[in-house]
Amino acid sequence: MDQPTPRPTEPGPKTQPRPATVCARCGTQSPDGAPPTWTCSVENGTRQYFCVACARANLRAIEGRLDSSWW
Ligand SMILES: [Zn+2]
Repeated sequence: MDQPTPRPTEPGPKTQPRPATVCARCGTQSPDGAPPTWTCSVENGTRQYFCVACARANLRAIEGRLDSSWW
């Protein structure tokens, strides 16, 4: 039986207007969404973004948390 695979239309990030992204630590705003250099961290089901400077500062904490959950 051949059946065409149905393709559900998923709302991609490209079709949605990007709200301004705010650094969760220092409050720096990026009106065009989070730049690729920013770090996204999901905490308690909420996405939080950190700018480059804050991502570096939080890198150890974020990685440490991920590592600890993997152990
Ligand atoms: Zn920041």
